[in-house]
Amino acid sequence: MKVAFIGLGNMGGGMAANLVKAGHSVNACDLSADALTRARDKGCAVFTSVREAMDGVEAVVSMLPNGQIVASVFENDIFGHAPAGAILLDCSTIDVGTARSVTAAAAAAGYDMVDAPVSGGIAAANGGTLTFMVGGTDTAFARAERILACMGKAVIHAGASGAGQAAKICNNMLLGASMIATCETFVMAEKLGLDLQTFYDISSQASGQNWSMTSYCPVPGVGPTTPADNDYQGGFATALMLKDLTLAMEAANLVGADVPMGMRAAELYENFVSAGKGGLDFSAIIQSLKN
Ligand code: NAD
Repeated sequence: MKVAFIGLGNMGGGMAANLVKAGHSVNACDLSADALTRARDKGCAVFTSVREAMDGVEAVVSMLPNGQIVASVFENDIFGHAPAGAILLDCSTIDVGTARSVTAAAAAAGYDMVDAPVSGGIAAANGGTLTFMVGGTDTAFARAERILACMGKAVIHAGASGAGQAAKICNNMLLGASMIATCETFVMAEKLGLDLQTFYDISSQASGQNWSMTSYCPVPGVGPTTPADNDYQGGFATALMLKDLTLAMEAANLVGADVPMGMRAAELYENFVSAGKGGLDFSAIIQSLKN
């Protein structure tokens, strides 16, 4: 299948390469010349214009920074320019309202579209092991699934348009809050004189067990190897966690959900990013709880 891929950054570069590996012909487009060079090296045909990248494609995948850019690219350069009948897939993390309005505009222009944000970072994008959570009609999901399957290990239909973004921000709000709870617990355990490996051995087999502890432990040298063991480099950047928590707070306001833990997590991550720590892995927030 001929597929256009828009946005070849940290995530999109690897995803487009995996479409090529799966045998698709990929028209890749980005504003960055370096990103285009990397995409060409991976076997993509490269374009500086989104409209030109639409030539003859049956599917369009986007992986862009935010909702404003997604709305602008789809409305200005994809609707009416992608061939009739092409399936449109936005894999960016954006707000639920924009996801729904862009999909509605796609339908008005005659296209099936899904929101399909991902869980998993740059390594999963490169390795083709992302998890996709997809919002859209049954027909759109069935068409999107076989394309997404080339880039991930799981493709789950979350519900109607916007449900993929809703699932993504709900999951990441829980992750942000549980990471902070895990961090503050280890800091307190240390102050109470507990050996941290011993506490991990106990809590990881007791009712405090959670993913932030046993798969992503924020304490260096404790539990599995994680970004904490590499000075909090790599992994999932704190700035991206703050982006997702900000989207979660917007969504909570929209539907009147009471989210005191999510709100506090957003405040703490905002303070940490303001202190210049946005580039560190999100588990580095343990540093701010030590004083
Ligand atoms: P990135 O900034 O590395 O990549 C975005 C790319 O889009 C850039 O190469 C940029 O040049 C390009 N771009 C911007 N505007 C464009 C336009 N008008 N036309 C064509 N190209 C354009 O970002 P990323 O880390 O790859 O993240 C992409 C999306 O994935 C974001 O929505 C992010 O929240 C989400 N996400 C990222 C991660 C992660 O670990 N990086 C994990 C999950 C989800």
